[in-house]
Amino acid sequence: MSDRFDIAIVGAGVVGCAIARELSRYALRTVLIEARSDLGDGVSKGNSAVLSTGADTPFGTLECRLVARGHQRYLAEAPAMGLPVMPIGSLTVAWNETERERLEAMHKETVAAGFHSGQLVGADEIYRRVPHLSPGAVSAIWEPEEGIVDPFSTPYAYALDAVTNGVEFRSTCPVERAERRDGAWHLHTPKGEVVADTVINCGGLAGARIDAMAGYTDFVMRPRRGQFIVFDKSARPLLDVVLKPVPAPTYRGILMTPTVFGNILVGPTSEEIEDPDDWRVTREGLDTLVAAARKMLPRLLEHEVTATYCGIRPGTERPEYRIIPRPSDRWLTVGGIRSTGLSASLGIAEHVAGIVVGEMTKGERKLETTAVRVPSLAAGGDRPWLNGGADDAAYREIICHCEGITVGEVRDALASPLPPQSLKALKRRTRVMFGRCQGFFCGARVQALFDRLSKERPQ
Ligand SMILES: Cc1cc2nc3c(=O)[nH]c(=O)nc-3n(C[C@H](O)[C@H](O)[C@H](O)COP(=O)(O)OP(=O)(O)OC[C@H]3O[C@@H](n4cnc5c(N)ncnc54)[C@H](O)[C@@H]3O)c2cc1C
Repeated sequence: MSDRFDIAIVGAGVVGCAIARELSRYALRTVLIEARSDLGDGVSKGNSAVLSTGADTPFGTLECRLVARGHQRYLAEAPAMGLPVMPIGSLTVAWNETERERLEAMHKETVAAGFHSGQLVGADEIYRRVPHLSPGAVSAIWEPEEGIVDPFSTPYAYALDAVTNGVEFRSTCPVERAERRDGAWHLHTPKGEVVADTVINCGGLAGARIDAMAGYTDFVMRPRRGQFIVFDKSARPLLDVVLKPVPAPTYRGILMTPTVFGNILVGPTSEEIEDPDDWRVTREGLDTLVAAARKMLPRLLEHEVTATYCGIRPGTERPEYRIIPRPSDRWLTVGGIRSTGLSASLGIAEHVAGIVVGEMTKGERKLETTAVRVPSLAAGGDRPWLNGGADDAAYREIICHCEGITVGEVRDALASPLPPQSLKALKRRTRVMFGRCQGFFCGARVQALFDRLSKERPQ
């Protein structure tokens, strides 16, 4: 198989998928290539799912600008794609006089940088918003514009939009070698060669390795693991804001936050690791998280733990994003998107499209595009049986009782133009097996249904 494209995007994480969606607005032949069987299965599957405003990123940097723009665009565009956004706000809490001084300085710097929504608040307001917080909080920054989002459906919605509007998606297609000849990049994969005039490397943790295939060695990866504990939905009434400590210069600290699915999340830790594939949750990491919960919100520990997981930040030797255009070579690196890529995704996509379409290739903006909508997986979201689907027997048969997911929703996920290729991917598309029992009761039935529907699907 050998095809020629205008643009090849390598890596279908939230960043690559957002860029694919953005470029689908242009009359360009674009392919999105992913090593794994599903999109969003790398760094993008394990984060805190907080939609940052940019006010907690280093001011004056590209990251700060792109997070702020991404936040603005996400609020404007996500609802039409069916993506839930819950603008619950955040409290960054100071526990002593030193932290209070640091917080006041942070607030001044934030306002000077043009972020005006945050307010300094005292103990009364803190405890009004979080009555179960441990005693001793002295002041906080209340940021009403920060929110929480669905980290799994976001790359899916972007990719579905991209594919619906003409982008080709190739999964299980790792790029193993890249060479420039005859005025084009030849990307070698086990499924054949992909030829493209321009390459955008969105390889996440493999970013430096993919750059090296083309002869570029501008940065080295310094992966940083972050572990999390997911508490049961019974804990949700304890917290209705994102709760943060005063950040250290290089680490934002362990936060506590509701998820859009109705759980409470505690994390992440921050650990330098050698192996970018070391997705282990460790005893030490969990002890750190439990200690943080005990210090700030001890009643959380009265609730069951639903799951633990970890994410790995694709950090580099420098703190900033490594977005490196090489217009004459037609290679653009979008690397080092460490801690804010979900929030910044639509900002990064716009920025990258500006570079690619302006400096690397020519593409007319399309006059019309087709809108897409993904199912809402948020707690209290608009489910099919609430929405005129009650006549469909498959929407009346629950397969995952913890999350209340029906056979019909699994069937719909598998009928998507981008169907899940594994049980793990199906979980991210539907939330099946993501609940309290983690698939203990429903796992075998879900697997059988997945296998049957996958076989029946036209290839
Ligand atoms: C602990 C933690 C907490 C976070 N919290 C937040 C948060 O609250 N808010 C926020 O905005 N951001 C947060 N982030 C950051 C966010 O998750 C990342 O910035 C974002 O997911 C990075 O996406 P990506 O597309 O660059 O990388 P990835 O999602 O890793 O995508 C890269 C893709 O490239 C593929 N790939 C690799 N090699 C190849 C190859 N050779 N050929 C083809 N494909 C290849 C991979 O399989 C992968 O799918 C957090 C991150 C972590 C780790």
